[in-house]
Amino acid sequence: GPKVVIIGAGIVGCALADELTARGWTEVTVLERGPLFVTGGSSSHAPGLVFQTNPSRTMARMAQYTVQKLAELDCFRSVGSLEVATTPERLAELHRRFGYGQSWGIGSAIVDPAECARLFPLLGKEEPSKVLGGLHVPTDGLALAVKACEFQAGRAVARGARFVGGAEVVEILQMGGRVVGARTTGGDYPAEIVVSCAGFWGPRIGELAGVPIPLLPMAHQYVHTGPVGAADDLPIVRHQDRDLYFRAHGDTLGIGSYLHEPMPVDLDDLPGGAHPSMMAFTPDTFAESWQAAGDLLPVLRATERTDGFNGVFSFTADGFPLLGESRELQGFWTAEAIWVTHSAGAAKAVAEWMVTGRPETDLHECDLNRFDPAQLAPAYVKERAIRSFVEVYDIIHPLDPPSVRELRVSPFYERQKELGAVFGEAAGWERPLWYAANPPQETSRDAWSARHWSSIAGTEARLTRENVALYDMTPLTRLHIEGPVDFLQGLTSGNVDRPVGTVIYTLLLDQAGGIRSDITVARLGEHRFQVGVNGPLDLDWLLRQAPANVTVRDITGGTCGVGLWGPKAREVVENLTDIDVTNQAFKYFQCREGFVGSVPVSMLRLSYVGELGWEIYTRADYGRQLWDTLWEAGRDHGLIAAGRHAFTSLRLEKGYRAWGVDMTTEDDPWQAGLGFAVSGDKREPADRKLTCLVLADPDAVPLGREPVYLDGQPVGHVTSAAFGHTIGAPIAYAWLPVNEPGTEVEIGYFDRRLRATVTAEPLFDPKHERLRR
Ligand code: FAD
Repeated sequence: GPKVVIIGAGIVGCALADELTARGWTEVTVLERGPLFVTGGSSSHAPGLVFQTNPSRTMARMAQYTVQKLAELDCFRSVGSLEVATTPERLAELHRRFGYGQSWGIGSAIVDPAECARLFPLLGKEEPSKVLGGLHVPTDGLALAVKACEFQAGRAVARGARFVGGAEVVEILQMGGRVVGARTTGGDYPAEIVVSCAGFWGPRIGELAGVPIPLLPMAHQYVHTGPVGAADDLPIVRHQDRDLYFRAHGDTLGIGSYLHEPMPVDLDDLPGGAHPSMMAFTPDTFAESWQAAGDLLPVLRATERTDGFNGVFSFTADGFPLLGESRELQGFWTAEAIWVTHSAGAAKAVAEWMVTGRPETDLHECDLNRFDPAQLAPAYVKERAIRSFVEVYDIIHPLDPPSVRELRVSPFYERQKELGAVFGEAAGWERPLWYAANPPQETSRDAWSARHWSSIAGTEARLTRENVALYDMTPLTRLHIEGPVDFLQGLTSGNVDRPVGTVIYTLLLDQAGGIRSDITVARLGEHRFQVGVNGPLDLDWLLRQAPANVTVRDITGGTCGVGLWGPKAREVVENLTDIDVTNQAFKYFQCREGFVGSVPVSMLRLSYVGELGWEIYTRADYGRQLWDTLWEAGRDHGLIAAGRHAFTSLRLEKGYRAWGVDMTTEDDPWQAGLGFAVSGDKREPADRKLTCLVLADPDAVPLGREPVYLDGQPVGHVTSAAFGHTIGAPIAYAWLPVNEPGTEVEIGYFDRRLRATVTAEPLFDPKHERLRR
C-alpha cells in the first residue's frame, strides 16, 4: 500500500490505523500532538455513551459496527440504554425511534414506567410516575474510549504501523495539487495520503491544506455527582425532554447536558497543558441542568456535584461527519466530526474507500464534498451547528426547515410569494411546497403527516392531471458538459451517444455496479450536453474523472427552469415558441433550443409527474420573463403553480425513483427497478427489491424510514411515501424481500401498524400514454 500519514491519535485515528493495516496498508504513521493515548483530545474525556438508534441507516450501521468491534476488543460494556419520555410527544417520538431500530436491525422495546424504574431504580418509585415510558435498547452501552484507542493502535502497530506522540503537524506538504507529506515540529513525514483525524482541530488542519473543513468546535457540560447508590451495570439513560443524559461511574453518576446556551469555541481560546479539550467549568450555565436532573432523579437532591468541565467536540451544519478525499488537494482525506459511537464504523468505511475506491456503506450523507459553496461559509456553519446543538434531542420532523433561510432563491421567488407559496428548504434552496392561491380540499390526516403539508397539494396534483401546472425545477442541480461524448458514454449505464436533440435517462454506477446517481443527459450539440444530476456529489464525481478535453460546469445557480406539465401544456406553449412542439416534431425524451417569447430556452420533453410537457430552462436573468410569459399565456388554459408535495405525489404514482432516498450505491439497478436504464446484460433482481405498496387507510402517510412487517417480522423499510391523489390512497415504496402483488404487509408508524398491499407499478398510466401524445 501507499505511505499514509494519519493526523491525530484519538479514537478515530486509532480506529483508522487498525482498519487500514487490517486491509494490508501497513505503511501507516499516526502523528499526535499530545501524549499517547490520553492525548488531551475529545476521546480522552468522552464518557463513551453509545446509543445506536439513528434516523440515518448509515449512522446506525456505523454505530452497530463500533459496538460489535469494541465488544470483541473488550472495550465495551453492554449495559443497555434507556431513553425516557416525560411527555406524550416524546413517548410518540420513542415509538418512532423504535421504528428506526426495527428498520436497521437494532433490537429494542418500548417499556412501561414500571419497567423503566426496574431498569434504572434511581428514577424512584413516585406515584404517579413522571416517566410515561421508555425505549430500551439492550445492546447499547459504554465504550471505553481510551482503552479502545490503545487496543486498536496496538493491533495496527503489530501489523507495522507507527504512532508518534508529541508530533504536532504544522504544515501539509503539497506538490502540484497532490499531498506529499506532513511537517511536524519534529521533522517531515513523506506520504502519498494524509488523513486528518484531528477531531475539532479539523479546521486548523484544513487551513494548512487549503481545504475548508466545515465544522464548529463547541463546549458541552459534563459533571460527576457524589455517591447516589448507582452501579456499573446500570443502563445509560437519556432524558431528551430536558436535554440530559446519565451514566454510572461506580456508585456516582455522570451527567451530560445540552440544556445550556450553545458555547462555540475559538481554537485560540483552548486551555494549554495536557487537556486542551477540557475548558473551565461554568457553574452558572449548569444550574438549570442540575435542577432538571434532580426533577427526574430525586436521589440527586441528597447529593452535590463534585466536579465538572466544559468538554469540546465537533458539530457540523447537518449533524453528519466529514468523510472523504478533497478534490482540490489529491491525497488529502478527512475523517472528522465523528462521535465515539460511530468511530470504528466510520473508520472502516473510510479504509474501504481508500483501499478499494468504494465504501461498502452508502456515505452520501457524510461526504466531505456534499456541500454547496455557501454551506462552507463559516457564518453558515456556525449558525447551523449552533442550531444542531440546541436541537440535539428535539423532536425533529423531516420537513422542519433549518434556521438559515433564503440562502438560494430562484428568479421566480417573488412571483411565487405573490401566489402565497409556502416554502420548504433543500440544499439551501427555497422550494414551494404548495401555493395558498390554490384552493384546499376536504381531507383528514394525522397531525404528524399533516405538518408542513396542506390539502392544497391535492388540488395541485388534480389540476396537473386535468389541466396544466408550473413547477419550479431550478433547485435541480444542472451541469453543462462540453467535450467528446466518450466521456459520458464511459461513465453512464446506457447509451448516451445518440443524435443531437435526444435526452437519455441513465445511471452513474460505481466500480461495483452500485447506483451513484440517476441523471438525464440532454444532447444539445455534438459536444454539448445539459445534464440534470442529484447535487454536488455528482459534480464532484464527474470533475474527478473529466479528462483535459472535457469541461464540466455547474450551471445551477446561473440558470433556472420550470416544469410545464399537464394535458394542456402544449396549448400553453405552442403559440409562444418558434420550436415546433407537435408530437411528430418534438417527441418524448427529445430536446430543442429556441425561444419562448423573447427568452432563449432549452426545452426537454421529460416529466417527473407523468404528464405531457416540458422542462424549460434559461439563464437566471431571463427567469422572471420566462415565468411571466408562461403565466400570461396559461391564463386561458387554467395554468396553476404547483409545489413539491403535489410533485412527490405524482412522482410516486408513476414509480419514478429519487436517488439518495429510494436507492443509493448499496443498490444495483435491477433491485431498484431501474434495469431498463442499463444497456446490455439483463439480470433478475436478487433477494430484495424496491417495491410499491398501497396503504389501506387514507388518514396516515409514512414519511420514510419506517419499518415494514411481514407476518409480524420486520423485513424492510419505507423509502419514499406520499398520498397518491389520483389513486386516492397513500403510496409507499419499500425495500422488501417479497414482491408478489397482493402480499399483505404492515408499516410501523408510531405505535400503529398501517396495513398495506404490494401492488404492481406504476400505479398510474402504466403504458405511459399521457407522456407520448
Ligand atoms: P480527538 O479525540 O479529539 O482526537 C483528535 C486528535 O488529533 C487529538 O488527540 C489531537 O491532539 C490531535 N491533533 C489535533 N491537531 C493536531 C496536529 N496539528 N498535529 C497532530 N495531532 C493533532 N461521543 C460519544 O459517542 N458518546 C458520548 O457519550 C460522548 N460524550 C462526550 C462528552 C464530552 C464532554 C465530550 C467532549 C465529547 C463527547 N463525545 C461523545 C464526542 C466524542 O468524544 C468525540 O466526538 C470523539 O472522541 C472524537 O474523536 P476524534 O478521534 O475525532 O477526536
